[in-house]
Amino acid sequence: MIKKIINFLNPIKHLGEKSYSFGFPLLTTLIVYVLTELFGYFIFKNPNAMGTPDVILTLILVLYFSFRSGIKGGIIVALESMIFFAYYIDTRQAPFLEKEVAAITALAVTIIDLFIVFTVGWLKQIIDGLLARETEEKIKAEREKERLKTLIELVPVGIGISEDPAGKNITANKIFRKMLQLDSRHNASLDAPLSRHPTFNILKNGDKMDIDELPMQKAGRTGKPVLGEEFDIEHKDGGVTNLLSYATPLFDKNNNVISVIAAFLDITERKQIEQQKDDFIAMASHELKTPLTSVKVFTQLLKRRFEKNSDKESLRILSKMDTSLTSLDELIKSILEATRIQQGKIVVEFENFLIKDLAKDIVEDLQPITKHQLLLDWHTKLIVHADKERVRQVLVNLITNAIKYSPHAKKVIIGSRQIDGLIEIYVQDFGIGIPKNEQQKIFERFYQSSAHKTYPGLGLGLYISGEIIKANGGEMWVKSEEGKGSTFHFTLPISKKETN
Ligand code: ADP
Repeated sequence: MIKKIINFLNPIKHLGEKSYSFGFPLLTTLIVYVLTELFGYFIFKNPNAMGTPDVILTLILVLYFSFRSGIKGGIIVALESMIFFAYYIDTRQAPFLEKEVAAITALAVTIIDLFIVFTVGWLKQIIDGLLARETEEKIKAEREKERLKTLIELVPVGIGISEDPAGKNITANKIFRKMLQLDSRHNASLDAPLSRHPTFNILKNGDKMDIDELPMQKAGRTGKPVLGEEFDIEHKDGGVTNLLSYATPLFDKNNNVISVIAAFLDITERKQIEQQKDDFIAMASHELKTPLTSVKVFTQLLKRRFEKNSDKESLRILSKMDTSLTSLDELIKSILEATRIQQGKIVVEFENFLIKDLAKDIVEDLQPITKHQLLLDWHTKLIVHADKERVRQVLVNLITNAIKYSPHAKKVIIGSRQIDGLIEIYVQDFGIGIPKNEQQKIFERFYQSSAHKTYPGLGLGLYISGEIIKANGGEMWVKSEEGKGSTFHFTLPISKKETN
């Protein structure tokens, strides 16, 4: 109660308030004046006794209420005191002064009152404004924080927020905690770094993951977002959760990483379906291979029979059948190869060879089966260290694609150039090109550009080629413009340089 009264009277407590009551200054001043009058009458037995204390009291009241209630409150008190002084001077003699002098003094006091009112009131207005803005901003920030917190808990995505760039203390939302199977002891935040947590292991392709390579830690360390990184959580009960993560660093004004925020998607189910699909494709292709080989053998037997009987018509039909069987065989081989690559079973046998000769060889082989002119733009004579048959496979794939996807063009250019320690080989066509947003995706398994659905194919050739080049220590990329053509580039390590 006493605390409440003190708070009510304390002008500081009312800073920043916008609504001022007028009744309070009016009433208080009135009561104070009446009390001083009574004080003068009954204590000093002299109605004139309180003259000077009244002046001081007035100044204090004006000062207090100007500060507590603002300009309006101050004016009310100043006017009230003016009326009081008018009444005072009118009803009795001022203690030491003449009536006129007293009137001038009262006027001066009123002027001083008003001066105090406006100065203090104005100051209060400024302080109130500043404080009100600060409070408003504080409330706004608080509300924003609350909204964000609700959103983070609501979204069906795991969210981790690290308060330090090293990702030591991670606050996890409900979904993320569920993904990590954290019990209530780890409720609010992960109390141990993800990398050596007591309740789970973090794996990448079956091996324990390097701490620095974890998405949040990597983003914090490099200051760059880490997008689309996959890794696995191995729980203590042996179960595994596959996660797809997106981590991004947050910076202060000086561009230093202050925290990291990351989103995690549980892709376990998707991975299982993918695995089932891969297993089925691998098994089906494998099962198809045996009967296909038998059919091929039988066509050879039939071929010999028809040759003996000089049955030309049957031989022609059989040759068409053989071509189709060869295409089917190629398709099955691609599927099996893609599956092997997917399982990390790609085998490369390195050797040193003159890449120009290989390119020439391929052009000579392919030229008879295409109307396109295959031009060699080869200015290097370098020996590369790679798997020759695999590189042949890649070049054949790129050239046949170039022919396939440029039906109205006349030529395809196959060229090379040297860039420190590497040879860059390119295959350029002047065909339909590839939409910009799909130029990365065409290297994925089974991906075919949405613009080229009418062209036959499985969408495996570029995936296999890209992986072969990677296994040989190179890189593959494409530059393309729709309607103008595409150029596929790849690099290979040089073994030894030979000059012309
Ligand atoms: P496929 O040609 O059997 O569909 P690829 O993996 O070789 O499979 O190619 C993937 C996709 O990339 C193709 O479906 C096509 O959309 C696009 N593509 C490949 N090469 C070219 C090219 N030279 N010009 C335009 N698009 C191409």
